[in-house]
Amino acid sequence: MSTAAAPSPVGKNAAPILEEARNRRTFAIISHPDAGKTTLTEKLLLYGGAIREAGSIKQRKAARHAASDWMAIEQERGISVTSSVLRFEKDGIKYNLLDTPGHKDFSEDTLRTLVAADCALMVIDSAKGVEEQTEKLFEVCRMRGIPVITFVNKYDRPGMDPLEVLSNIESKLGIHPVAAAWPLGYGTDFQGVYDVIGRKLHLYIKASHGAREADTEIFDLEEGVANAQLSESVKEAFMEECELIRDEFHEMDPDEYNTGKATPVFFGSALSNFGLDIFLEHFRNLAPQPQRYTDNTEQLRSLDEPFSGFVFKLQANMNPEHRDCTAFVRVATGKFERGIEVKVDDLSKKIRMTSPHTLMADDRSLLEVAYPGDIVALFNPGEFKIGSTVYKGEKKKYDVIPLFTPEHFIKASSKDPFRRKQLREGLQQLSEEGVVHVFEVPNGVGNELLLGTVGVLQFEVVQHRMLAEYKVEMHYTPVPYHTARWLPENEEIISKLKTAFSTHVTFDLDENPIALFDSAYALSQAIEKVGEENLFKFKR
Ligand code: GDP
Repeated sequence: MSTAAAPSPVGKNAAPILEEARNRRTFAIISHPDAGKTTLTEKLLLYGGAIREAGSIKQRKAARHAASDWMAIEQERGISVTSSVLRFEKDGIKYNLLDTPGHKDFSEDTLRTLVAADCALMVIDSAKGVEEQTEKLFEVCRMRGIPVITFVNKYDRPGMDPLEVLSNIESKLGIHPVAAAWPLGYGTDFQGVYDVIGRKLHLYIKASHGAREADTEIFDLEEGVANAQLSESVKEAFMEECELIRDEFHEMDPDEYNTGKATPVFFGSALSNFGLDIFLEHFRNLAPQPQRYTDNTEQLRSLDEPFSGFVFKLQANMNPEHRDCTAFVRVATGKFERGIEVKVDDLSKKIRMTSPHTLMADDRSLLEVAYPGDIVALFNPGEFKIGSTVYKGEKKKYDVIPLFTPEHFIKASSKDPFRRKQLREGLQQLSEEGVVHVFEVPNGVGNELLLGTVGVLQFEVVQHRMLAEYKVEMHYTPVPYHTARWLPENEEIISKLKTAFSTHVTFDLDENPIALFDSAYALSQAIEKVGEENLFKFKR
């Protein structure tokens, strides 16, 4: 990666742009379902002053579903198929929280959202440790080398002891956990959190169901421990642990943190609000300012250049009568203003951006200006694709969205063999939107295509949209592929894999080669044959 800064045309707006960018923090939460992401999000908004009482996000969520005319699937399942952006402001810092859907609606969208974030907040259930979905999301953070900040949640319930949690994080993710806070007591005895960074012990008084901020008393360590209502043996053990970890954070290598090799770990309970004040206070400083992106000419762009950004998510129109959709753009450089004319990729046509909106706690409000780090949701008249660069002035192109490896496969055909052309066209369109990967079936027949997704729900989304938008009724046939890896465009490697054990090489509609494996064993054989470095989980 190039580190040389491109000379940037500094206009009269440059200083305000840098100033605005400095006050922004754009992050995503990575967690496994049920770890407490929704509860923590709500509490961040509560502490951030964006809502007055906790509980409103969940209520709104329920109300939105009741009123939603969004896709039938969403209504039937009561889940959200796409993610949104929450903005809140605290002490002059504007936070953009990019929501990453969990549960069954986990999809490539979730992974792509992480490309638009500058850091990740990893939420872990203290009783369960690092779980499967967190591991998948963490891999994307590792690929990008972004900082990861950890919040170990549910300390008000019996779980692993804090040292166990740290070793769980280290062994599961290979990241170095660094205690930034330490819990005093746990389960029903959870009474306080030691702020390792600020060297103060916070003792909490339980608020009613955590609807308001917890009442807190702040002490020096020894004094606080003396005030806690815990047995002498618990206090002694706590003091010993604090002795052990008290300098860890202060000795953390900033480079290790900035590149995601070390993660500061906070402890608390999102439900009862314990530890949230400490977490938020330090999160402000730990979360990085908007990063500078390198374009595809290897130039590191300055934040104060004219407006540019990239599309990381497309959300199809809620109204099936209209095929247009909303494009979510991460602002990489400059100032975005409502009504400006932008260009998209190689298209010479200028598009006037008249109705951008941002999403705040599910309310759509018109956005007048946006700066680096912000997300704008733009009406997409059809020109935007996943990964498209949107810019003003001199042409720019960012290649930042990788292809993620699909994990689920299914063979699709049109029930009506005469709609073969529409099947291909529709699927091509949906693959450009980033809904699904489409491959030629190895040894398949004309009316069949192979679909690959990161989450299984996408197959239903595809089936639904193909029928509603392209009038193609699809038939699915299961296929036995266990896992896949993207391949380099290298004839020698491709031909070696074509003859490998239980391995099938095929191409997506953009000619990207991929290897499909029948079993974990087949993958391990392929690794032996061509080397792990030629089998990609992410492909640019
Ligand atoms: P998500 O699926 O990650 O968004 O998780 P939720 O925020 O919906 O939480 C899942 C469940 O765990 C809910 O019943 C929450 O009330 C509960 N929960 C969340 N945080 C805590 C916590 O700190 N302590 C306890 N005891 N329960 C919690």
